[in-house]
Amino acid sequence: MLDLIINSQSFTPKEEGKVGIYLCGATVQSSPHIGHLRTAVAFDVIRRWFIAKGYNVKFVQNVTDIDDKILRKSAEAGIDWRQHAKKYEKEFTKSYDSLNVLRPDSAPHATKYIGQQIKFIKEIIDNGYAYPGEVDGEFTGNVWFDTSAWKDYGELTHQQNADETEVSIEDMRPDKKSPRDFALWKTPNPEDPDSASWSSPWGKGRPGWHLECSCMSANELKGNFDIHGGGLDLRFPHHENELAQSKAAKEPTPSYWMHSAWVTAKGEKMSKSLGNGLSCETLLKQDVLNSYGLRFAFSTVQYKSMLEWTKETLESSITAGKRLRKALLDLSSNCENNCENQNLNSVDLEVSFPQFAEAMNDDFNVSKAMAAIWGALKKAGSQDYIVIRKALQVLGIDPLSDFWDTLFILEEKSKLPNKTLSEEQIKSINQQILERKEAKNSKDFALADRIRDSLQNKGIRLIDTKDGTTFEIAE
Ligand SMILES: [Zn+2]
Ligand SMILES: [Zn+2]
Repeated sequence: MLDLIINSQSFTPKEEGKVGIYLCGATVQSSPHIGHLRTAVAFDVIRRWFIAKGYNVKFVQNVTDIDDKILRKSAEAGIDWRQHAKKYEKEFTKSYDSLNVLRPDSAPHATKYIGQQIKFIKEIIDNGYAYPGEVDGEFTGNVWFDTSAWKDYGELTHQQNADETEVSIEDMRPDKKSPRDFALWKTPNPEDPDSASWSSPWGKGRPGWHLECSCMSANELKGNFDIHGGGLDLRFPHHENELAQSKAAKEPTPSYWMHSAWVTAKGEKMSKSLGNGLSCETLLKQDVLNSYGLRFAFSTVQYKSMLEWTKETLESSITAGKRLRKALLDLSSNCENNCENQNLNSVDLEVSFPQFAEAMNDDFNVSKAMAAIWGALKKAGSQDYIVIRKALQVLGIDPLSDFWDTLFILEEKSKLPNKTLSEEQIKSINQQILERKEAKNSKDFALADRIRDSLQNKGIRLIDTKDGTTFEIAE
């Protein structure tokens, strides 16, 4: 196995042959935006490369299912906060699935970890790095991390205080010793429902947000906590606070921190939409290949580089996918011993495709890795077919994989002249085929069957093949 560099450091796992990765997951308060999707894809590629290198990978991604925004937004919508969180968690999962992101091996929820978080707070208090808030000799019910007692505070980011313009109400609470101390446990807001607080030695309340990741990463990965990932926004204060808490509790901390950069438009951070006013959900629905286009764009820019999004990004990514697909199909048609019978799993990219492997080992330099793929395709013979497909699978963009092939076939089909179906009708059928596939992915077979039956009633018969689903007009 060749050496892998992360942030100019050589990678050494805590236990040989194993890698533990913890990725800060979503706060499920509203729909995912483009930044969330980019982070998910960036770490999916990282995870796939470790797997391709032969490591046994455990990938943990948490779900923040309680937080001030979830409580506020669910109250505004007049629904139970737990239902609100469930609804958006499903949306996140659906979007990740549609971009061919592997599901995490474990997805711990903050609300299922309250007991362990209370234990964690006790450890920090016992070690002398946290204190119950107090005003005029009365306990307030909050517990604060004591940043002045923890001398290494700031070691990760060399940042000590939040931007002065971002001083929140919490920063100025009278029961704190210093404005930068942060909450490990907090009393409920007056408007919070009873179901959103738990009993603790300090009274009713809930854990501070930063704590869940310290607690869950330690419990889920234990001695195999190698990499902690997240979006760039989480470096400070979230990760600075996590590191301080975990060390103060004498719990495991990661050897490597990795942060995925933003998606920008004209240099400004994009989040709410894709600049054309479209939500990610609408965009994914608009055309069957849009999900491929997004995945390709995210997969081919190094995680720590900004991804500048323009009007052309999506289209040129889809065009690249079609070019790849055509080149691979041409190669396989020249294959003497049926290319399809070759086993992808048996390919060791570090041996058979060193230019690709070197780029990936160079801090996951995926744009260099993609250039290696294009270069190899130019002079490829049929013996390279399987190697190139394996490399594309590491990036999650192999257009001939079961996952994507269906979509390319659907899209081609919708372009064929068809006397009886309008373009709109074909689009709608394709959309329903996709929804059925998603339903099957999330094991909702009743929904999958309903979609098939409703199309059947309209005279459209679905045909499931090993390459995916197509349709014909029933006689
Ligand atoms: Zn984190
Ligand atoms: Zn986190």
